[in-house]
Amino acid sequence: MSTIKHLPKDNLACGWYHTSAKRTPKPALTGNIAARFVVVGAGLTGLAAARQLGLRFPNDEIVLVEAQEVGFGTSGRNSGFAIDLPHDVGSDDYIGEINSARHQLRLQKQAQEIIKSVVAEHNIDCGLEHAGKYQAAIEPEGLAVLESYKSGLERLGESYTIIEQDELPQHLGTSFYKRALFTPGTILIQPSAYVKGAADSLPANVTLYENTAITSVDYGAKVTLGHAHGTIQADKLVLTNNAFASSFGFLKNRLLPIFTYASMTRPLNEEEQAALGGKSTWGIIPAHPFGTTLRRTPDNRLLVRNSMTFNPNGKCTDAHLKTAYQRHVQSYQNRFPMLPNVEFEYTWGGAMCLSRNHMTFFGELAPNVYGSLCCNGLGITRGTIGGHLLADWLAGDRNESIDYLLNAEKPCANPPEPLLSTGVNANLMLGQRKAGLEA
Ligand SMILES: Cc1cc2nc3c(=O)[nH]c(=O)nc-3n(C[C@H](O)[C@H](O)[C@H](O)COP(=O)(O)OP(=O)(O)OC[C@H]3O[C@@H](n4cnc5c(N)ncnc54)[C@H](O)[C@@H]3O)c2cc1C
Repeated sequence: MSTIKHLPKDNLACGWYHTSAKRTPKPALTGNIAARFVVVGAGLTGLAAARQLGLRFPNDEIVLVEAQEVGFGTSGRNSGFAIDLPHDVGSDDYIGEINSARHQLRLQKQAQEIIKSVVAEHNIDCGLEHAGKYQAAIEPEGLAVLESYKSGLERLGESYTIIEQDELPQHLGTSFYKRALFTPGTILIQPSAYVKGAADSLPANVTLYENTAITSVDYGAKVTLGHAHGTIQADKLVLTNNAFASSFGFLKNRLLPIFTYASMTRPLNEEEQAALGGKSTWGIIPAHPFGTTLRRTPDNRLLVRNSMTFNPNGKCTDAHLKTAYQRHVQSYQNRFPMLPNVEFEYTWGGAMCLSRNHMTFFGELAPNVYGSLCCNGLGITRGTIGGHLLADWLAGDRNESIDYLLNAEKPCANPPEPLLSTGVNANLMLGQRKAGLEA
C-alpha cells in the first residue's frame, strides 16, 4: 500500500462553519467494508458526485469519505459566489475563447439549477439569493479590466450594468470604488450551510463517513483504501479531493494548492447598518485578480477575502493567518471608515486547487479510478457540475457537456522544484503588490 503523504487539516476559526446550524457529523468508519463506488472528499464536488451516483445506481452501495467534518473544509470556507459566467483569469476579458466560454456558461448555469433544486427539495437554510455580483475597481488596472470584461460579455451576449462612483454607495454603502460592473446571474449562498445540508440529504444508498482520512491506497483490479481503523475495497474509486489527488499519485506536479484567506465581522447593530447604508446584502469581487472579495451577509456581517500563499503540503500556518488578518484589517479600514469599531470575529484560510493553464480535470485517471478535480477557484458551480456529470458519465451517458469536459485540455505540467515554488511565490507577491488599493 502507498502512504498518502499529505492530509487536510484546516484551521478552526471558519466563520461560515460556526455561524451555520450545528449538526452531528456522521460517524467515522471503523473496520473493513467494500462498495461498488467509493468517493473520496465530501466537498461540493464529492457531494454532487455521490448524490448523482446514488440516484443513477439505486441498487448499489456508494461510500463517501471525508477526512474532516463536512462544511469545515474548503467547500465550507469559500465566499459563497455561485458564479454563472466564465471566469477565465488567464484571459484579458475574463471570457477567453468564445466556444469554451459558451460551454462554461451552460455548465455553470446547470450547476446553479442543481444547487437550487437540492436547496428547494431538502429545505436547506443556506441564505440562497439571486443577488448577482458587483465586479468593482478603483485602480487604473482594475478599471481597464472592467472595460475588457464589458467587451467580453458583449461577445458572449450576456447582460451587465455599469455603475459609476456616485451611485455605488446606494448599492454597497462604501464610496471606496470608482466603478463597478454588475452582472445579475450570480447566486450567493452560505457555503458551509449548503454543504452541511447537502450532506444530510444524500440518497439512502449513499453512506457518508466523516473524520475518516484515507491514509493509504493500493491500485489493482479493485482499489484498496486504508484508513485509521481498517480498509475499504472499491470496484471504482472517484477522487474529488482537489489538490490532495496528487498524494494519491495523480496529476503530480500539475496542481497548485494555493491558499486564500477570509475574515468575518460580528453582526452589525442597527446603528452600524444605518451608518453603512446601501442594500442589505451584496457580493463584490475584485476587478484585479489579486484584489479583495467582499460580502454583506444576510445576518449583517461583513466578509473580507484576499491574500494568497502557495502551500504544497495543503496546510496553512499561524503566520500565514496572522499576515492575512493584518491585510484584512487594512482592506476593511479602507472601505468602511464609517464603521471603525466593528471587529473581526473569525479569520480562516482555505486551499484552492489551481493549474497554471486554468484547466480542470474530468475523467479517468487510471483503470477504475476517476476524478473531477482542480476547480480553479470556482468550485461552487464547477465542482457541482463536474461531480454530477462524472456520475452520469460513469452511468454510461454521453452528451455535449460530458464530451466537452472529457475532451478539454487538462492541467498542464509545472516546472520542477525549486523553480516552481520560487516562480509561484514571486508571482503571488508581485500580483498582490500590483493590486494596489484593490487588495
Ligand atoms: C477563502 C476562499 C474563497 C473562495 N471563494 C469562492 C467563491 O466565492 N466561489 C467559488 O466558486 N469558489 C470559491 N472558492 C473555491 C472553492 O471553495 C473550491 O473551488 C471548492 O471548495 C472546490 O470544491 P471541491 O469539492 O472540489 O474540493 P474541496 O472543497 O477542497 O473538498 C475536497 C475535500 O476532500 C477532503 N480530503 C482531502 N484529502 C482526503 C483524504 N485523504 N481522505 C478523505 N478526504 C480527503 C478534504 O477534507 C475536503 O473536504 C474559494 C476558496 C477559498 C479558500
